[in-house]
Amino acid sequence: MRITQAEVIPIRIPKKNPFRVAYATRTACLGMLLQVKTDDGYSGWGEAVPVREVTGEDRAIVFGRLRTWAAQHLVGRDPFAVEELRRAIAGNLAGMPSAQCAVDTALWDVRGQALGLSMWELLGRERTWHWASASIGIKSVDETVAEAQALLRKGFHDLKVKIGLDPDQDVARVLALRQRLGLDWRLYLDANQGYTVDQAIQVTHRLAEGGAQVELIEQPVPAGDLEGLARVTCESPIPICADEAVKDPASLISLIRLRAAHMINVKLMKCGGPTVAALMVHMAEAAGMRAMIGCMIESRVGITAGLHVALALDNVKYIDLDGAFDLADDIVSPDSGAQYRDGKQFLALGQGTSQGRMNASISSSVPPAGAPAPGLGVRMDLAAVRRNTDHELQL
Ligand SMILES: [Mg+2]
Repeated sequence: MRITQAEVIPIRIPKKNPFRVAYATRTACLGMLLQVKTDDGYSGWGEAVPVREVTGEDRAIVFGRLRTWAAQHLVGRDPFAVEELRRAIAGNLAGMPSAQCAVDTALWDVRGQALGLSMWELLGRERTWHWASASIGIKSVDETVAEAQALLRKGFHDLKVKIGLDPDQDVARVLALRQRLGLDWRLYLDANQGYTVDQAIQVTHRLAEGGAQVELIEQPVPAGDLEGLARVTCESPIPICADEAVKDPASLISLIRLRAAHMINVKLMKCGGPTVAALMVHMAEAAGMRAMIGCMIESRVGITAGLHVALALDNVKYIDLDGAFDLADDIVSPDSGAQYRDGKQFLALGQGTSQGRMNASISSSVPPAGAPAPGLGVRMDLAAVRRNTDHELQL
């Protein structure tokens, strides 16, 4: 099999509500899609979402480089030449992990389709669903409680609250949440590098003593301060999850050496795609660290790739794949790819399998039994892709 075509489409999908974290406010998904076609008639999709603050990438540069490289060097290759392609991607798209992710995902997609197996089955097939989590940006106590209440009513079981701007206000918000909404749901916190080491240690103790029952706190201190992160990990009564400090296998080795976190947040856009994400989940397991699969503000193409990895591997104990929940438009057909229902995320079943049709019609169990569609399993809504194409970047 040969790749005959590779096209990059910049997309901009507005969010319904702006989202404020410690370093920025986000109003849209700003990414790009890669579509590869093969001489056997397969069409594979992948997504890149470069985020300067997280991956150090510039979106316009990533777009130009990915478009040129894919057209000149991906076309003509055999998608099953896995190791040769891995070296080519790592070498030619160095420093552009989101671009690597788009290529890696699209290759998994065409290989899976050719084999008739989903990425989930090829990667490990561990479980069929995970508790979904939804994130709440930095806002007032009352707004936070109201939003959390609305999400719990929608069926969410796990909520991630962003903190990191002001330790006193953060502690007050989190304690108010628990006092007003009880303990019958899991709470993650994410400081996005917002604290000093001393502030972080104090916040963890105040929350624990206040009875907040926090599952984990992500990246309390700046990514570059691994010794500081290790100190927080050593002294915190709440498990510490590294996010911005752990981008790729090399940074994970540094983290493991210093025992700088209890767990890690693996994001496909940070590490270079599903292949490396799976490697990092296994590395973490060997070091006794649990893993979370997280995301950027991505369309359901990227989210679906993350969910395949998360459901395939035993050491993924948490997911934070809410990046598309608040988007104003959906470029993937609603009954394909990553699905959300009753607080759970799972993969849509393959169309046309008798098992899939039967389960969809006779049972409302979540998730339905059966195998996901081969490859990535997204059916693209091409009209929605055109609607959300970012023509400014294309020029
Ligand atoms: Mg985070």
